[in-house]
Amino acid sequence: MADPTPMPWAATVLTLFPAMFPGPLGLSLAGTALKQGVWSLETVDIRGFASDKHATVDDAPYGGGPGMVLRADVLAAAIDAVGKRIAAVPSIYLSPRGAPLTQRRVTELAAGPGVMLVCGRFEGVDERVLEARGIEEVSLGDFVLSGGEPAALALLDATVRLLPGVMGAEDSSADESFADGLLEYPHYTRPRTWEGRTVPDVLVSGNHAEVARWRREQAKKITRERRPDLWATYAEQEKE
Ligand code: SAH
Repeated sequence: MADPTPMPWAATVLTLFPAMFPGPLGLSLAGTALKQGVWSLETVDIRGFASDKHATVDDAPYGGGPGMVLRADVLAAAIDAVGKRIAAVPSIYLSPRGAPLTQRRVTELAAGPGVMLVCGRFEGVDERVLEARGIEEVSLGDFVLSGGEPAALALLDATVRLLPGVMGAEDSSADESFADGLLEYPHYTRPRTWEGRTVPDVLVSGNHAEVARWRREQAKKITRERRPDLWATYAEQEKE
């Protein structure tokens, strides 16, 4: 492990459920890095910024319809309180309407000073707060979660593992899925024969060039079969 950086990569999470953090990020790679001070995690309880005695954070949507909406004034108060304390970092609202999270975006975030994440609940948040505070929307995928917290945990997991010193081998992210626009090749380990299935001969040949070539071919084949969208982009780039 490399020395922890003097200024940890700083994650600030605005949530109605601070107890969900660090959750899984307190264990394994991310957990060790958190304890070592490679990154820091602060949760801000949005409810603490409610102004009435019942600590109300949501209200019924204008125009009618089901569910409740997180109030702009309450959420903005939480965001502004954070903004006064921390240096400028990208602010992201986890939302199914956002730009799908990609490895490229995760890599950009890891290269910066940190991130502020807003976790929605109910039907979502009042649109005006997103506009007024210039908050970007990022989605985990085309499905609906009950809250932004699992998405925030996933975004942080993907980002933190890229911080210097967090992964065992510094370059173990270079070969991974999406790094070069392709999905990853298949892996094998001992035993060499398992339930009658053997490991491809090339992988035990000791010929590094052949292994690299085989892996590249497999990565292309898997991408072509499983992700025509990624394959189209890759093939386009290869042409140029
Ligand atoms: N009514 C909204 C869904 C609200 S789900 C809609 O139809 O778009 C409640 C909260 O969960 C959201 O405010 C958001 O913060 C979070 N959430 C749900 N799905 C998500 C996804 N795919 N990616 C990121 N966050 C999501």
